[in-house]
Amino acid sequence: FIEVEGLQKNYGPHEVLKGVDLQVDRHQVVTLIGASGSGKSTLLRCLNALETIDGGTIRVNDDVVSGPGVNLNRLRRKVGMVFQSFNLFPHMTVEENIAVGPVKLLGEPRDAALQRARELLKRVNLDHRASYYPDQLSGGQQQRVAIVRAIAMRPEALLLDEITSALDPELVAEVLNIVRDLARDGMTMILATHEMQFAREVSDLVVFLERGRLLEAGPPEQIFGNPKEERTREFLRQII
Ligand code: ATP
Ligand code: MG
Repeated sequence: FIEVEGLQKNYGPHEVLKGVDLQVDRHQVVTLIGASGSGKSTLLRCLNALETIDGGTIRVNDDVVSGPGVNLNRLRRKVGMVFQSFNLFPHMTVEENIAVGPVKLLGEPRDAALQRARELLKRVNLDHRASYYPDQLSGGQQQRVAIVRAIAMRPEALLLDEITSALDPELVAEVLNIVRDLARDGMTMILATHEMQFAREVSDLVVFLERGRLLEAGPPEQIFGNPKEERTREFLRQII
């Protein structure tokens, strides 16, 4: 569903992605791991065309999305993204935050969009917070709203960048539970995470990035249980 070939990305003279190949099938959960600065966020941002790229191709559903003339609205409707900082609109209530995309970008009637927002909130046990403002919620609650807001756009895939790393430890589980539910429902996801235990449990494919290169990729049992590359072993030894 998402195909990356020879992806290169530079920031000025600094080569951040040095020819990354990656293929993600529908309903797959792919986790990006690697040291800070290895290029995980940059890769995710390229997939959603938040960055221009300097080489290679990115295809989503057979459409090349990396070239000029790409329809950004269409791409971002297909591929949603959730960030470490929740980025909710502070002046809108929770339900308005969720409904605004479907109303403005998908042309859904406001009432229907708000109704659906409340249904989606129920799924994450937040329907009682529908009329709250973001600053009246805990970090974990805000992040659950941010995920629901992405889901409300009916994306075909979701990119999740360190969505638990700004959260207090006791709030991490409630956010990961939602990702787990989405995985069970068959949502295609690519996530960057430092939660190795979670990556091991939820991923179909784990990708280890080192300094802008895809060093090793495989099923979680292989990457965590018996990695081929010494660098992967070393990284996992340090982090676990
Ligand atoms: P972390 O685990 O800390 O989130 P990461 O794997 O997500 O790290 P990236 O954020 O993708 O790493 O950064 C990869 C490299 O690109 C880093 O060396 C970083 O300094 C550089 N970089 C990222 N964004 C920019 C930018 N806007 N301008 C210049 N350099 C950047
Ligand atoms: Mg990052």
